[in-house]
Amino acid sequence: MNKKIKNRRHKSLKHSGGGRIGKPGESSVKYLIVGAGPAAIAAIEAIRKRDKRGAITIVSSEKEVFYSRPLISYLLADDIGEENLFYRGEDFISANAPLRIIAGAPASSINPRDKTAAIAYGRVLKWEKLIIASGGVPIVPPAILGAKNLRTFTTIEDARRLDADIKSGAKRAVVVGGGFIGLKCAEALVKRGVSVTLVELAMHVLPSLLDDVSAGIFQKNLERHGVSVRTLSSVEKIYDGGKKLKLSGGEVIETDIIISAVGVRPNVSFLEGSLIRMGKGVIVGDDMRSSADGVFAAGDAADVPEFFSGARRAVPIWPVARQTGAIAGENAAGGAARAAGALTMNSIEVFGLAVISAGSVNPSPDSGTAFLDGAAVETADGLADLPDGTPRYKKLVFDGGGRLAGFIMLGDVERAGIYTELIKNRASVAAFKRDLAGDSFGFICVGEENWKKRIMPLEV
Ligand SMILES: Cc1cc2nc3c(=O)[nH]c(=O)nc-3n(C[C@H](O)[C@H](O)[C@H](O)COP(=O)(O)OP(=O)(O)OC[C@H]3O[C@@H](n4cnc5c(N)ncnc54)[C@H](O)[C@@H]3O)c2cc1C
Repeated sequence: MNKKIKNRRHKSLKHSGGGRIGKPGESSVKYLIVGAGPAAIAAIEAIRKRDKRGAITIVSSEKEVFYSRPLISYLLADDIGEENLFYRGEDFISANAPLRIIAGAPASSINPRDKTAAIAYGRVLKWEKLIIASGGVPIVPPAILGAKNLRTFTTIEDARRLDADIKSGAKRAVVVGGGFIGLKCAEALVKRGVSVTLVELAMHVLPSLLDDVSAGIFQKNLERHGVSVRTLSSVEKIYDGGKKLKLSGGEVIETDIIISAVGVRPNVSFLEGSLIRMGKGVIVGDDMRSSADGVFAAGDAADVPEFFSGARRAVPIWPVARQTGAIAGENAAGGAARAAGALTMNSIEVFGLAVISAGSVNPSPDSGTAFLDGAAVETADGLADLPDGTPRYKKLVFDGGGRLAGFIMLGDVERAGIYTELIKNRASVAAFKRDLAGDSFGFICVGEENWKKRIMPLEV
């Protein structure tokens, strides 16, 4: 675990029963933000760049605000304490005053016509600008719904609950879903001495991040550390309230806990009846405006324009939450900012093996990543293992126009930032395509001073 994270300590910003709002009834605010995750934080920071005084109120369904979801697996593993999870503290609140936090008080409905929000405890807030940054909710497959030992893994409360399970004797877990949440949960459970079976519906783990080669390496590493992986598999039936599971292949597994980790969907049920245009999430343009006047959305709750196609869909990753939150905040405060399309990118390290991927990594129509006409794939050959024995793999995907459209880097992820920038810039990489695939691509191949000149943006 990173030293910086271990040294980061903020007091838990925890407000219960409606936090700081005080009196019941109706109150009025210039900016209302629903949610207290990275999209909300980026929105606050952007508002304050343009408007130093406008009153901002945050409502959050959780009692704790401004904590890092990606770190909850380190909490469950006992690698860090709760104090390391909070990445904004009281100083952030005073630096952005007037900023009021109402935590533990979910918004229950929104009325864009009279610009009001109903929140818990019968309170109604009037707003001028509303930013919906309510994140995602975990999806639970119907076959495991109703299991008494069913858990999810997206909040600090989820981590505490699993910790309590372990402390009360849970020794076996089935993690349903082999995406990054499932894998990080499995790693933490193994570190706590729990025996884990991971069930994944697709051909391989991390299906939208990896190809079959890199996933094979990743999976071997999981198994080496004791995780039993079942791919092309799903839970068909539960018995004994969830103590026994029957998988699609007929295998029956006994377990103490089941963790549903098959992904998240936008957390927007409180918008039902609001007449705001919805897909799976709130549909927004590249300015993060929704169909309703004065209403913006950002982060996991929004269907944002995707990088390659411009099609609206949720891209539920941290960098997109930050990027779209900043645009929503700036525009709510009177700006005219526009976001570049949201690029899928992910980095994950499990049992010491790191992988980073971005863009289109499996360029076929049914792969779940962006499909590109005329795409060509180049895989770096013969990359030696790192001196400590860590395997390496690199795959690059180019579009029909000679631009980098996606990559996977496993083992050695050092220069992934350069590759991501090349994709984002829609840069012509024809002049150094071979270098890119090589072992030691870096600024040196393009000339650090010069690299912006050689990387010619094709679209402005
Ligand atoms: C275990 C885990 C690991 C992850 N690892 C990575 C990673 O390595 N890299 C990466 O890019 N992404 C990762 N993610 C995803 C990333 O955390 C999310 O994309 C990001 O947090 C989304 O930010 P957000 O602000 O849109 O929503 P969230 O962070 O989900 O915040 C939503 C906020 O809205 C509040 N809320 C919800 N409903 C209501 C309501 N009705 N009224 C009021 N408040 C409400 C919640 O309490 C919360 O404060 C991970 C997620 C998890 C769960």
